Amino acid sequence: MRNRCRAGMRSMMAMLFVLLPALAHAWGPSGHRMVARLAENQLDATSRAEVRRLLGILGANSLPEIANWADDMRSDPAQRELSRATSRLHFVNFTDSRCTYDEPRICANGQCVIAAIQRHAAMLGDRSATDRSRAEALRYLVHFVGDVHQPLHAGYRSDRGGNNHQVRFNGKGSNLHAIWDSPVLGSRRLRWNDYARLLERAPISDNTANPIDWAEQSCRISRDKGVYPQGRTIDKAYLDRMRPLAERQIRLAGKRLAKLLERTLD
Ligand SMILES: [Zn+2]
Repeated sequence: MRNRCRAGMRSMMAMLFVLLPALAHAWGPSGHRMVARLAENQLDATSRAEVRRLLGILGANSLPEIANWADDMRSDPAQRELSRATSRLHFVNFTDSRCTYDEPRICANGQCVIAAIQRHAAMLGDRSATDRSRAEALRYLVHFVGDVHQPLHAGYRSDRGGNNHQVRFNGKGSNLHAIWDSPVLGSRRLRWNDYARLLERAPISDNTANPIDWAEQSCRISRDKGVYPQGRTIDKAYLDRMRPLAERQIRLAGKRLAKLLERTLD
């Protein structure tokens, strides 16, 4: 009886987990895969070969395959501790609308996405580290470079990156972060690999190599570009306005990730 009770409790907990609105954490799987695909296709031969080798250690064949691991592990009970320990590494919160990086205040003890990128890039480039550690660093890096380009992952308002900014979408309650995770890019109605191919057609020029600049740019986008809608309803016009911004961020993230991997691995 006790066992049945426990089993019942477990399935109830599992159901609750599914029903509870997940705390949005990222671009959503498609956005991260696109960033990874764009980066992978831009790599020079040397870094591509090294990325392949490290992917093999993780049992993967491509960067998109590992791009969502840092988010996916949150639903793996075996990774709960690790997921909790790294939960602050997906974003950075600026203190005010100036969007200037003040490390001791907003990234104390390296607990933000900027420091996470710097740390994992250093580990990836460390030839004295084990291949396993370097492959794991690659897995984080691919994800976090995507995250820092999502404007609400580097915002300045005290609404947990839009997670507490309630909106209405398709007649239902949602929040602004969740809208940026999926519906903005989803409004293109393309599968992620076709979408990546489309974005690839328009190359983007950029020489910004510092993750601090990437985060400050994201913060300014969240401040200046109408990311916070006038009212509380998300309509098609909003998605159409935001989509080019999101697409540009995905393309920048892909380009910058490729350059970062080349600098680190060549
Ligand atoms: Zn994330």
